[in-house]
Amino acid sequence: MTIYRYGRSSSARLAEVHTDLQKLFREVLISSPWDIGILSGFRTKEEQNAIYHRGASQRDGVILKSKHQERLAVDFGVYVKGKYINGDTPGEELVYYAVIGHILATAKRMNIPVRSGSDWDRDGDFSDNGFKDLGHIEYVL
Ligand SMILES: [Zn+2]
Repeated sequence: MTIYRYGRSSSARLAEVHTDLQKLFREVLISSPWDIGILSGFRTKEEQNAIYHRGASQRDGVILKSKHQERLAVDFGVYVKGKYINGDTPGEELVYYAVIGHILATAKRMNIPVRSGSDWDRDGDFSDNGFKDLGHIEYVL
């Protein structure tokens, strides 16, 4: 069975977020059935604003701040058979939900409170979610 490891970029991004998120994502990868990478961790106001203007976030980083600006969020990506998938097709989305389940279960076991961009209100119902951000996990203070 393959044991996955974070590459240099993923490790550097992870090192910039809250220590509980670092612990969580290290533990997640050790037991993960899928290879994952860390696409984003800490963001400056300017970086968040650029993402907002691309339409990839609802938070402009100025009036509405992102948890990424507080080092309280991580965006992960999934690799299947060595190829990055972004979750945009129905088949890829299924893989993301499986990985999200693994992350949420690991967080629960470690007693680290997190929220997924697939279930903002944390009611366990993916179907009532508004802005879908499958790769986003944030720390809930
Ligand atoms: Zn995010």
